[in-house]
This record gives sequence, structure tokens and C-alpha cells, in this order.
Amino acid sequence: MVLAFGMEHYLYSNYTPVGDILVVTACLLFLVLMHIAYITKTRTYTIFRLLIFTLILAATCSLCFHMFLSKSNQYSETLICLMRAGYHSFLYVDMFLYVVYIREQMHLGRRTTYQIVVPAGIGTLALIIYEFLSAFFHWDFQIQGDDQALEKMNLFPFGYVAIALVIMYLLIRYRKRLYKQVMTGVFGASVLAFVVLFVQEKFDQTSFTVGTYLLPAFAVLYMMHSNPYNLEMGAVDASAFDDLVKYSYKKKKDLLMMTLLLVNLEEEGTSYPQKIKETIRKFAVDYFRGATLFQVSNGRQILVADKEKNPDYENIINKILNGFDEEYPRYRMPFKIMIIHSHESISRDRDYMGLIRYVESKMSNNDVRYVSEEDISEYEKHKYILSELINICKTGNLDDERVHVYCQPVLNIATQEYDTAEALMRIVLPEVGMIYPDVFIPLAEENGIIHQLSLMILHKTCEQIRIMLEQGYHIVRISVNISAQELRDDCFCLDIGSVIRKSGIPFGKVAIELTESQSEGDFMIMKSKIEELRESGIKFYLDDFGTGYSNFERIMELPFDIIKFDRSMVQASAVDQKSESMVSHLAHLFSDMDYSVLYEGVETTDDESRCRKMDAKYLQGYKYSKPIPIERLTEYFKKEA
Ligand code: C2E
Ligand code: CA
Ligand code: CA
Repeated sequence: MVLAFGMEHYLYSNYTPVGDILVVTACLLFLVLMHIAYITKTRTYTIFRLLIFTLILAATCSLCFHMFLSKSNQYSETLICLMRAGYHSFLYVDMFLYVVYIREQMHLGRRTTYQIVVPAGIGTLALIIYEFLSAFFHWDFQIQGDDQALEKMNLFPFGYVAIALVIMYLLIRYRKRLYKQVMTGVFGASVLAFVVLFVQEKFDQTSFTVGTYLLPAFAVLYMMHSNPYNLEMGAVDASAFDDLVKYSYKKKKDLLMMTLLLVNLEEEGTSYPQKIKETIRKFAVDYFRGATLFQVSNGRQILVADKEKNPDYENIINKILNGFDEEYPRYRMPFKIMIIHSHESISRDRDYMGLIRYVESKMSNNDVRYVSEEDISEYEKHKYILSELINICKTGNLDDERVHVYCQPVLNIATQEYDTAEALMRIVLPEVGMIYPDVFIPLAEENGIIHQLSLMILHKTCEQIRIMLEQGYHIVRISVNISAQELRDDCFCLDIGSVIRKSGIPFGKVAIELTESQSEGDFMIMKSKIEELRESGIKFYLDDFGTGYSNFERIMELPFDIIKFDRSMVQASAVDQKSESMVSHLAHLFSDMDYSVLYEGVETTDDESRCRKMDAKYLQGYKYSKPIPIERLTEYFKKEA
């Protein structure tokens, strides 16, 4: 029929319903499979489902049309004609949906949409209007009695070819946007469809017209909407997880997630032992109704269940956890388990992976944790701080108002005056107020932005030194803290030099505090950087001496000016005579080698008198002052006489 271009034509005597029945059943099967299999519910998925649905309608109309036609004395001519119009129209819609599908799948731009998709839509609509008008006015089709029909001016083949050409054009023009395999599949199916149409025509058949539409649909379903399953565990991949979150958020479905991290597998990227695979599969399948398992990274699995379908989820969680406990002795692999209820803002941002990683980082191994509201708000705060930090560094404004310099004045024992101080960073953000270094320094280090922050502190410190010097204050120097990783940057010395130079103060008014490094490589880098900057007059402090490990020989190789004994040493010296004499000896040793000793964390008069006995040159701690905004140093420093 399709190839019977527009001539007068008696037809439909060779129709059998097998083709259309096959189409309806196959499409129903498609819909069922799509529903039960885990298929990512993208927009193209929705379009495709609609497409299958229109095929069912087309086949049903075709069935009715031919059935009514064969008993034309029992049915009105208009009804028969309407069925025919419906049959053609649904096929048009089906083809047009392919055009829309391609636009979506290949991410075609606005221009293509206006130049091709919209005109194709208008054309399709015109064809459909024609079909229905012609059904009423019998322009192209008439019943001739004796169950025979006369086709006068059949437009359908023209419409069919026109839309098919649009589809082919899009496929060929934008072929690079699809994987070659997918392209081959879709093209192959279309060619097969034409072959079937041709063969059908040869046998003077009309039964398989709708059936030919099944072939490309089948190719698309197989190539585009089948998610790779890990058959052994039954898990789907991370993008599918992302998609489920998006879908559930839209449909306002509450989800329950159980995450399992197998620490070793995640770190080493190794494959799962058979026993573990079996266990995971069992937990994924046997307990929740309709749960899906996602493998989101090598060692991380997330089991997601719909809460509505599992009202007894608390029971189920307990059963799984108990079962897991029983299985654990079989493989003894360190794990972290989390239970998360879907949460509005995390779902909106599709950020469960971020939340999971954040909470995991705070858990110890073999721990089970129910993620609470507090965990989530803490994570959101963490995200907010990180985004602000990144923004501060991106903006690159050394005067950024969110970065604050606090200072702790240091008492010089020789003069009994405050003439040096340590600069300490604070970040002040509108939503959370002041944040302390223990929160943001690790974040800035992990994200490689600590150096920019340090430069801001250095800049602001230099500015304040300049102002105070101009006002006549006696400042020996102010020290700033620098992280070990900053030294690895080739531009480190240049950056520091240029900030100090711009402020116009002498280089000797600035000192840098560094902590000991553990690796040989870092040690060599530190040595060369210190030597380079020291030549310009900058002083160097060794920070936190006595925490963790201390390699005396190495320290002696580095040209530090001041050794800062950590607060823990001050405290230890108070415990017993032995500790005091050890601290005292160390301090003495450094003094003999021409290093100055500074004690940190001096809180009481007792602390002070002990430190004085132990070769102290400088004292710093709450006894003298807590960290204060740098402008307030004027309250401690004296003006030159
Ligand atoms: P730190 O360099 O050892 O700084 C001394 C810390 O001890 C400061 O904490 C200070 O407030 C605190 N402290 C001072 N006196 C006392 C005392 O008598 N008792 C007690 N209990 N604590 C005292 P803060 O400001 O929270 O800084 C923490 C750490 O953050 C610093 O330790 C430093 O390692 C790092 N940090 C601070 N600012 C910067 C910076 O600008 N850059 C880099 N890279 N690190 C910084
Ligand atoms: Ca310090
Ligand atoms: Ca310190």
C-alpha cells in the first residue's frame, strides 16, 4: 500500500490482522520490559515511550479499519474513514516523534529546531488535518460496496517519504553526535523496514505496514535505553543512580538508601571476591520490594528502595544489617555502611555522592551510620564554605573582605615588650559568620587553593605593618603561616617577594612559619626555598616543634631563626621533672646552636615561669593575648621613642 503512489487503486483484500496483532503485543511487551527493567528515565525515554504508545494506537486503528472495512455494510463509511485517518495519523505522529527524539538525543541546537523540527511538526500537523478532512469529505477514499474500497488520491506515501527524508537527513547530518554502533543499529533497522515494505508490496500485501515501524523502535530500545547490568551483582552504574535521584525528586518519591563502602576495594581498585558478590546480590534482591542496586564506584554500592513500597523499611534495614554482621566473618573486609533518607536539597542538587563521601570521611572503618539532619546541614555548610573559598581565590582580590587577619602578639623576654606577632587567618562569611583555620585550612589544602589565601594574609599583614611603621610603632616583625604544599609551587618565592615588594616595607619585617616535612623531596624543596628567601631578609620560624615526629639532624640543616615549641611541650614540662628536663635540654641545645626559642600556648603564670627557666627568648599564648584583629596590635606595640 505504501508504495502504491496515489493512483486509483482497489485494495485491502489481502489484509490479514497478524501484522497489527504482532505490533500491539510486541509494543505492550516493550512497555512492560521498560517498566520493570532498570532504564534511566531521561527525556528521550519519555519520548520513546510515547512513540511506542502511538504505535499501539496506529496498529489498533489499522486493525479496526480493516475489520470494519471487511464488514462495510455493518459500519458507517465515516467511521471506517476515520479509522483510516487515525491509522495514518498515528504513524505520522510516530515518525515525527522520531524527529523530536533525534533532536533530544543528539542535542540539536535552536537553529536546527527552528529550521527543521518546527517545520516538520507543522508539516505533520497539516498531513493529519488533511487525513481527517479527507475522511469527512471522501477526497481520497471511498467505499464501493461489496466490501471493496477505492483509493483515489492517497497522500500517505508522500507524507511517509517526506518525514522519513527529514529523519534520514538529521541522522546523516549529525551522525558524529552518535556512537557509530548506535548509528549502524538504527540505520540497519530502517533499511530492514524498507525491505519489508518492498517485499510486502511484491506480495500485494498490506498487513505489515505498521510492523515495519517496530524495527527501528527495537533498535532504539536496545541501543539507547538498556542500562548495562553487572549481572553477577545485579548492579547498575553511577549515571543511572543520578538519574533515579532526578526522577524521584521530580515525582516527589521518598527514597531510602543503604550505602556500602568496601574500603580496600575502593582504594586499590581490585575486583570483588566471589563470596562478597553473592552476599551483595542477596541483600539487594531478598529484602526490599523493588529496590535497585547501583555500583557507583569500584568499592561503593548503593541500594535504593522506594519508601512507599516498603513501609516496614526500618525492620528491613535491621535484617540486612544483622545479615551483614553474620556474613562478615566470611571475608573480613573493612567497610563503612550508611543509611540515608532522601533529602530535599541533596536530591535537588543530585549530590548524594558528595554527601556520602563527606560523611564517610568522618567515619571509622566497620562503622554503621544513620545520616542525620545535622550531618546534612554540616555537609551543606562545608559545601558553602568550600564554594566561598573557591570564589575568594577565583576573584583573586588580595583585599577580599572575607579574609581576615588576626594576630597574637608575642612577648620578647629580653625587652619585656611586644615587638613581634603571629598572623592567623580567619574567614568571615555572611551565612555562617567566622570560621577558624581547623575548618578551612584542610579544605583549602585539599583543593589546592591555600597558596592564594596565604598571599592575601601576607598582603594584608604587610599593609598593616606599613601603616603602623608610618605611625611610628616599633615592629620587629610579624610572622605568617605557610603550608608545606605551597613550597612545591615553582612560583612560591616570586609570589611572596612580589607581595612584600608592592607594600614597600623592608623584607625583614616579615617572617614565615613552616612545619617540619616528612618526605625527603619536600625537605630538599624546603631547604632551597628557605635559602632563597632568606637572602632577601625574610626570617624563618620552625612551627609546632615537638608535635609528632621531630628529626633533629634535619632541622639543624635548615637555616631557621626561631624554633617554636608547641603548646604540648609547655604542658608536658609541667607534668614531671623528667619531662621538664627533657624540654629544657632541647631548648638549651637550640639556644647553643644560635636558634631562638619561642614557647607557644603559654596560659598561666606557672607556664610562664617554667618557660623562662627553659631558655625562652619569646613567649606567646592566651596569658598575654588571644588572637585579636590585626588593627588592634597598636594596643600592644609601643611607639619608637
Ligand atoms: P599554629 O600556627 O600553631 O597557631 C597557633 C594556634 O594556637 C592558633 O590557633 C592560636 O589561636 C592557638 N593558641 C594561641 N595561644 C594559645 C594558648 O595559650 N592556648 C591554646 N589552647 N591555644 C592557643 P588558630 O588561630 O586556630 O590556628 C590554628 C592553626 O591553623 C595554626 O596553628 C596554623 O597551623 C593554621 N593557620 C592559621 N592561620 C594560617 C594561615 O594563614 N595559613 C596557614 N597555612 N595556616 C594557618
Ligand atoms: Ca604558626
Ligand atoms: Ca604552632
